[in-house]
Amino acid sequence: MTLIINDITNKIRDFADFDGHEKVVMAEDTDIRFKAYVAIHNTNRGPALGGCRYWSRYENDEQAISDVLRLSRGMTYKNALADLPLGGGKAVIVGTPGTRMPTPDIMRALAKVVDSLQGKYVTAEDVGMSVDYILVARGVTRHVAGLPIEMISGGQMPEEIGLNEIPNADPSPYTAFGVFEAIRASAAHVRGVNDKAGEILRGMRVSVKGYGNVARTLCRMLADSGAVVTVSEIDDGRLAQARADGFNVLAKGEEIMAYPADIYAPCALGGDINDITIPFLVQAGVKVVAGCANNQLAKPYHADELRKRDILYAPDYVANAGGVISVGMQHVWSETPARETFPTHAKVLHRIRHIHDVIKAIYERADMAGANTAEIANRMAEENFPGQKGTPVAQAA
Ligand code: NAD
Repeated sequence: MTLIINDITNKIRDFADFDGHEKVVMAEDTDIRFKAYVAIHNTNRGPALGGCRYWSRYENDEQAISDVLRLSRGMTYKNALADLPLGGGKAVIVGTPGTRMPTPDIMRALAKVVDSLQGKYVTAEDVGMSVDYILVARGVTRHVAGLPIEMISGGQMPEEIGLNEIPNADPSPYTAFGVFEAIRASAAHVRGVNDKAGEILRGMRVSVKGYGNVARTLCRMLADSGAVVTVSEIDDGRLAQARADGFNVLAKGEEIMAYPADIYAPCALGGDINDITIPFLVQAGVKVVAGCANNQLAKPYHADELRKRDILYAPDYVANAGGVISVGMQHVWSETPARETFPTHAKVLHRIRHIHDVIKAIYERADMAGANTAEIANRMAEENFPGQKGTPVAQAA
């Protein structure tokens, strides 16, 4: 097996999505059908953390390069607004057509590429990956995140830490908590009140698209706060689960974005907010869009379209940062373990709660500047990381 790793940063400077990226490498091992791109966008805040995506539907290399450039830049913005001491990076593996997951050999090759970057890029799970693959990578390089903290601590776990203090390895409950805080902050802003008593959601109607890992926890939190939750799902098993959990469930094919609601929470896939669906939201009386899905806006201008219709938009990469906050805090600790800085479950939640304040600050600044919330979030992120600034963030993951 011959693994070739080439620095292609200078070769791709003319790409539309190139944004002063610090380093982009192409790696290949034809013996095992491995090809990947790794992009480090900005490390001014710290090592670049971002997942590794396995995707077999790239039509050509240009598509894969554009993807890794956009996604890595998105991670710089996300990590900066989450106030993590981490920069932005991403890896994409160009998958073999017809496959959805890498082979262990491919994962080990990717890990060698990550290792060659000497800690400037830290990889984690993304589309087409599972914890098992990250474990395979961990056998080759220590620059991985998103594994149970016991595994990444290198035997440095503080002995007196109780089991209930250990943070979850699964980021989705943390993502749900951050989205819940974003929804609370949004509802309070729309009503022009401070939600000190935590009662703001009582009686509010929340529509949730998708009942996956994040949404299930989110729906429970919303219901516990007195919100009236309606769910739509395309998967029969998850639909049945939502019903069994006591939620109002729309019939398959019924458009949830047109269903009367105060808040719409996109928790399925991206691109939900577009020219066709914005009129549905207006018809439904929706005043807030806040959910966990990545890349909710089909195009950056849709943030303005929402604003024109008085629909408040919680920028997706801010609202859904709970997961990366948890993974990031665990990674930072594992690099320099100390008892005092151990990221207990409670400490992680404390940091995620801050999403409430960040969302509130975005809304206040957007009101003052007469600008859309996505644009303000990008500006605030840019203030948090010195370096590259450019076109609107299209994708964070
Ligand atoms: P998931 O796959 O568990 O859940 C997504 C659900 O959406 C699935 O049950 C799927 O059947 C459903 N769905 C897909 N299309 C639909 C449609 N048109 N209508 C109704 N339901 C539909 O994924 P997840 O981990 O819960 O993540 C949800 C979203 O949040 C994704 O966009 C993901 O990228 C993003 N996100 C997740 C995390 C995390 O911690 N898991 C963190 C940040 C962002």
